[in-house]
Amino acid sequence: MDSFSAGCRCGQVRITVSAEPSMVANCHCRDCQYASGGAYSTIVMLPREAVAITGATTQYTVTADSGNEVTRSFCPTCGSPLFSELSAMESVVVLKAAALDDPGWLRPTMHIWRESGQPWAEVDAELPSFERNPG
Ligand SMILES: [Zn+2]
Ligand SMILES: [Zn+2]
Repeated sequence: MDSFSAGCRCGQVRITVSAEPSMVANCHCRDCQYASGGAYSTIVMLPREAVAITGATTQYTVTADSGNEVTRSFCPTCGSPLFSELSAMESVVVLKAAALDDPGWLRPTMHIWRESGQPWAEVDAELPSFERNPG
């Protein structure tokens, strides 16, 4: 799908996207576990110029397992995790799958950061799986 909308649970933050995701992956890094509250986050990589955001977000920046800075944005009212920006990939916005108004059409194509994955995570064995970032 080359255009779609997303946002937070309370509707204060709205996001419109005018591009196909360049990658959809299930990320098992510890930061994505904190941000999702579960075993991993399903993340949707998008070109920055295709993403328009309205509404106030709160940011929190961490040094990720990769050593790069990741700035995570969430809704200050309802707490929905929304998107991340990576110091190492400034042309990219990484949207959380659950923020899409209709996440049902997404097809994750890989598992990444399995080295920090939980033993109880359900992992689709059909998909490629990487210990860290794919090469
Ligand atoms: Zn909200
Ligand atoms: Zn992650």
